[in-house]
Amino acid sequence: AAKEGGKNRAVAYNKGMREGVVNVLAVESDLKRALAAREFEAYYQPIVNLADGSLYGFETLARWMHPERGLVNPGEFIPVAEETGLIVELGAQILEKACATMNRWREKYPLARALTVAVNISARQFAESSLAATVESILERSGLPPEHLKLEITETVVMLDAMKSVNQLKALKNLGILLSIDDFGTGYSSMSYLQKFPTDQLKIDLSFVQRMETTTESIEIIRAIVNMAHSLRLRVVAEGIETERQRDLLYSLQCDYGQGYLYSRPLPEDEAEEFVKESE
Ligand code: C2E
Ligand code: MG
Ligand code: MG
Ligand code: MG
Repeated sequence: AAKEGGKNRAVAYNKGMREGVVNVLAVESDLKRALAAREFEAYYQPIVNLADGSLYGFETLARWMHPERGLVNPGEFIPVAEETGLIVELGAQILEKACATMNRWREKYPLARALTVAVNISARQFAESSLAATVESILERSGLPPEHLKLEITETVVMLDAMKSVNQLKALKNLGILLSIDDFGTGYSSMSYLQKFPTDQLKIDLSFVQRMETTTESIEIIRAIVNMAHSLRLRVVAEGIETERQRDLLYSLQCDYGQGYLYSRPLPEDEAEEFVKESE
């Protein structure tokens, strides 16, 4: 019986794998079509100063406006885009939109002149030796001053080859942009590298924020991250803030900026623009 069970499991496993491969291929060709059709949109989620709730900037989050499936979240297409290399083209499209949008807002609203727009960079993009040149030409075309663009790279990605990352981060930093380490606390950072990386911010992973109210360990981890970051002269952003209690705790731990559903969900461009207008 055990043997039979093993065989069934093997069959199910192979079938699942085949379906997985077929699915990746199907998504890949659909992604190619969608890139050509420009079906990807940039949504913007506000990031605020925790001290007074004033607007600090936005994080750009990709959404796929699929003609049949409707709005598709990044969890469903970023991994395939990454696996197939299509993320490089997709990432450039999103970066272009983010820079152009922020520059347009800057021209329209005095308050927007102080804002920063953050864009996520994937492992594949970060591994490209041409990344800094790509970012530079997109910045030039959009007219956005570099100090108003922030790139978010996950801790796992920068620590994958920390020595190489130092050089890539320096090339990006030389453009005059801001750099942030995303999902901080989920990877394995080496303190000596953190000091060598020319980064400006750490973004505490939302899993710690979400556990704050139930486990004191999460509070202690956040306290340690904030203290370490501040001693390295880095600013700290907390993501995934959903409750006032989380906000109050993070503020008392001296976290600098916050982002989450408590303030706003990621918004389509026109609604994000309303948010800027109302913040004036
Ligand atoms: P991330 O960069 O860590 O983004 C934060 C995620 O948390 C976003 O999910 C955001 O919508 C979600 N979030 C924000 N506030 C809250 C909250 O209060 N509660 C909860 N539960 N979630 C919150 P989203 O938009 O689904 O994006 C998921 C991930 O996909 C991102 O994680 C990022 O790694 C990736 N991603 C999104 N857009 C892009 C892109 O343009 N390029 C690349 N390379 N990756 C992207
Ligand atoms: Mg991010
Ligand atoms: Mg994150
Ligand atoms: Mg994440």
